[in-house]
Amino acid sequence: MCGIFGIYDHPEASNHAYLGLYALQHRGQESTGIVSSDGKHLHHYRQMGLVSEVFTKDLLRRLAGRNAIGHVRYSTTGSSELKNAQPFVVDYANGTISIAHNGNLTNASLIRSELESQGAIFQSNMDTEVIVHLIARSKGKTFLDRLIYALRKVEGAYSLLFLTEKEMVVARDPMGFRPLILGSLKGSPVIASETCAFDLIGAKFIREVEPGEVLLINEMGIKSFKPFPHRPLRQCIFEFIYFARPDSFIFNRNVYEMRKSFGAQLSKESPAMADMTVPIPDSGFPAALGYAAQSNLPLELGMIRNHYVGRTFIEPDQRIRHFGVKIKLNPVRELLKGKKIVIVDDSIVRATTSRKIVRMFRNAGVKEVHVRISSPPITDPCFFGIDTPKKSELVASSHAVDEIRQFIHATSLNYLSVEGLKQCVRGEEENFCYACFTGDYPYSGLKK
Ligand code: 5GP
Ligand code: MG
Repeated sequence: MCGIFGIYDHPEASNHAYLGLYALQHRGQESTGIVSSDGKHLHHYRQMGLVSEVFTKDLLRRLAGRNAIGHVRYSTTGSSELKNAQPFVVDYANGTISIAHNGNLTNASLIRSELESQGAIFQSNMDTEVIVHLIARSKGKTFLDRLIYALRKVEGAYSLLFLTEKEMVVARDPMGFRPLILGSLKGSPVIASETCAFDLIGAKFIREVEPGEVLLINEMGIKSFKPFPHRPLRQCIFEFIYFARPDSFIFNRNVYEMRKSFGAQLSKESPAMADMTVPIPDSGFPAALGYAAQSNLPLELGMIRNHYVGRTFIEPDQRIRHFGVKIKLNPVRELLKGKKIVIVDDSIVRATTSRKIVRMFRNAGVKEVHVRISSPPITDPCFFGIDTPKKSELVASSHAVDEIRQFIHATSLNYLSVEGLKQCVRGEEENFCYACFTGDYPYSGLKK
């Protein structure tokens, strides 16, 4: 779970990288960094914290040059500390390279042990660093040759940005797990995890970086390469369900429209006898709209969110997460007292949040709480860049739906079916990864 942004040949490169990352903040809140290049040297700054907290005008001024890449991070591998913040910057025989990664490499520890047994020393405990070592060891002549050599050895999910003194290189894994978009800001190439970053800086959408595509961006322009064997597409369906911003256009679709259709489909599958539909802010909003419209129930904002609190799920410390629900959400008592409601949320992970939410509604005098979830039960961890917890912590890995219903004290509980989810991406069902709902991984031998 990370966001990446890059811009090439623009007089205000680092300022725009800052804004791009600002728009991608939902993809990671632990640490952030920007690396710029002035044609001769790379300049970098990384720090723990939010984009708006970390960067100052002064810092951005020091990130000189017409090219920049940036990163917002939420750890999926590697702990939450500064040495794991990105972009990485390393010197090697041919100069300096920096790298920003969104995704998760599934064979990184294997490669790492191999390299370490040959004497390699790692600075971080991140999977991404493996790529850097492979690049440094490659015998390729150009940076691009070396990079392709490295990427042929890794497996898993990667949307990547590299910046050297003179070039920017972009790569997306052949299965296309994470989104990556190409745009243009008055002729300067820009790259971002999601289009919402383009909207903020006034850049135009050009197209998605294709799965398995490598883009070399330099003074000569943009050159596209397809150096990897063909693989079936496995775009992450959870980007649509929860992760991406609803105003973004990724995987060739608008995220908001997708979420609404999940809600509508959920209503067809699991209607409820209730007085109103109540969305769980903010992630449940689009699906609740779809649910309410399809089921002809009035939509009421029965749960209000304090917008000055970060996303609670993001903190790795369990204790903060529990506290977070109460800080963040509060029901509208007068609206709810004595009512039957159907609440719509996007997903249940551990069920601790849902349980507290249902309790809040009960305490506010709600008579019946029908819970509808606009994704199937999450039964298996993700190895491709979404921070789902261990299998044992996923409530649906070991509990039937009715047991979960009892645990959260809901009057009724229904999830969207996997078939329903596929129905919403009709014609492209095969192009998505549903492993967190099915355990059917695109690679074998993965265990968490
Ligand atoms: P639970 O009921 O499992 O404790 O929490 C479910 C809530 O967590 C849902 O509202 C959902 O929006 C949210 N959620 C699901 N996946 C993620 C995630 O990857 N990150 C964050 N911050 N929240 C998530
Ligand atoms: Mg939520």
